[in-house]
Amino acid sequence: MRTVNRSLVPVPAVLSDTNAINEAVEVYRSSGSKGKPNNSIYSHETVLHSLSLIYYNKCFLCESLTSRGGDQVVEHFLPHSPATPERAYDWNNLNTACRRCNDLKRKNEFKETDPDNKIIATLLLDPSRPPQGFSIESIISFDSDGMEAAVTDQFSLNLIANNTKKLLNDPTLRHRRRDRADALRDTIIQRCSIRDIQKLCALDPLNLDQFHNITKDAMLLALEAADRLCLFFLRDSVEHCTSMRRLVETCYSLCYNDLKRLGVYYSQIKGKPCVYA
Ligand SMILES: [Zn+2]
Repeated sequence: MRTVNRSLVPVPAVLSDTNAINEAVEVYRSSGSKGKPNNSIYSHETVLHSLSLIYYNKCFLCESLTSRGGDQVVEHFLPHSPATPERAYDWNNLNTACRRCNDLKRKNEFKETDPDNKIIATLLLDPSRPPQGFSIESIISFDSDGMEAAVTDQFSLNLIANNTKKLLNDPTLRHRRRDRADALRDTIIQRCSIRDIQKLCALDPLNLDQFHNITKDAMLLALEAADRLCLFFLRDSVEHCTSMRRLVETCYSLCYNDLKRLGVYYSQIKGKPCVYA
């Protein structure tokens, strides 16, 4: 789970047409208890496109590709009803979710209800609205062995953080993260000496003249490994990149930003486009 900045993309035009949205809100408000919002608005292709730019076609909670197990779902973080119709069309309330998380999120333990048993809040972290002054990554971490989600010390007693951890530790998700971790370790072991990557990461700014204690062949292998790590495991658009970044930090003392800098440099010297620059 990673922090997402919605301000990077404009509000989809279909959601910023005030007259049309006001009309849709009123239709939903007066639709009665069994009414539903107009999904041709909140699931419009322009909404899906904008969501794909911030979530990279991944689930907003578990970071699995939303193409797994069926079509992606446009999900409302805060529940909507004819009593709260605005939420159905609020850009800040829309996310892409996998079907698994969309179903898990509906469980009672992740919802707050009023005395009439109406859902009034979602008791999970919202990637685009973490508590003020914090990132999602400063609240949810991962261990390096079992790829199990954990809550950082500062939030150890926080119900919403602990609920999010529980959802992320669904056995299927843990299994997927462990498979990714195994593949990442294989990539590092097969490609080069981890010590060489660490040496290159320590250089700032990257400058070939500083490479006194590493051969050119070893340097190229280390740069190529950094590029592959970013490309297949660490960049924003790949599944479970947050837990993989945690793995390279804890097991190999490597930071994604340093590896990215090496990968960009490798792409430049090889004359190939870099998709994560
Ligand atoms: Zn999910």
